[in-house]
Amino acid sequence: MQSETLIYIMIYAYIFIFGVCIGSFTNVLIYRIPLQENIATKSSHCMSCGEKIKWYDLVPLVSYIILRGRCRHCKAKISVQYPLVEFISGIGYVLIFLTNGINLPSLIFCLSFSCLVVISVIDWRTYEIYNCMIYALLALAVIRVIYEAIIDYHSIPEYVIGFFAVSTILFIIYKASHERAMGLGDVYLMAAGGLLLGWKHIILALVIGAVIGSVIHYILMLVLKKDHMLALGPYLSAGMFITMLFGDGILAWYWQFFK
Ligand SMILES: [Zn+2]
Repeated sequence: MQSETLIYIMIYAYIFIFGVCIGSFTNVLIYRIPLQENIATKSSHCMSCGEKIKWYDLVPLVSYIILRGRCRHCKAKISVQYPLVEFISGIGYVLIFLTNGINLPSLIFCLSFSCLVVISVIDWRTYEIYNCMIYALLALAVIRVIYEAIIDYHSIPEYVIGFFAVSTILFIIYKASHERAMGLGDVYLMAAGGLLLGWKHIILALVIGAVIGSVIHYILMLVLKKDHMLALGPYLSAGMFITMLFGDGILAWYWQFFK
């Protein structure tokens, strides 16, 4: 094998491990934000027996496999959500760096992706989108806009318009539906996402999210055979993630029909 290929494999292995580790912190946020627990000072503990988890049982992915998904102390089942979120984070980070290159925007996208994972899982479970995650996403968006502005300041309007492009439409629907069709959290999410991605990409993200949401919601209603309340956050987030990966390609493919 060529040494260059080997270096690339090593870099992406590191990116995967980095993603898994951030995914481990993502799990902490997912559990503690709705409970309003301190995310830094309180140590990790078992959800069943409350036993403090030893440092050697906190290795992302690996510990879950070694413990075969059970608490070392009380043998209660550990939610599969922990390794799943860690694995998805690792894969997500690798995909983002693969499609966007090894640069600062990719890192910003990765951390934004983690914010979206936190928002999605909490929204899925509680129908709430917490402002603290919106602020985190906004901060990452501002860093991206500054980065792009340093390269070419003409790009600034793209992102400022992005902030309003979809969020304004959602806000009108929110008001017109007497605050029933969605929550304000969805509006804020698409404002922060729009500042991060720019107006073309956030509109694309909305379209992709709406398609995915309709399909999955339809399947859920068939399977569960009941009217399931719809959390929009996960679908909007999925739309944004796909746009991060393939946005430019999809838009280029779309525009060719109008040439
Ligand atoms: Zn336990």
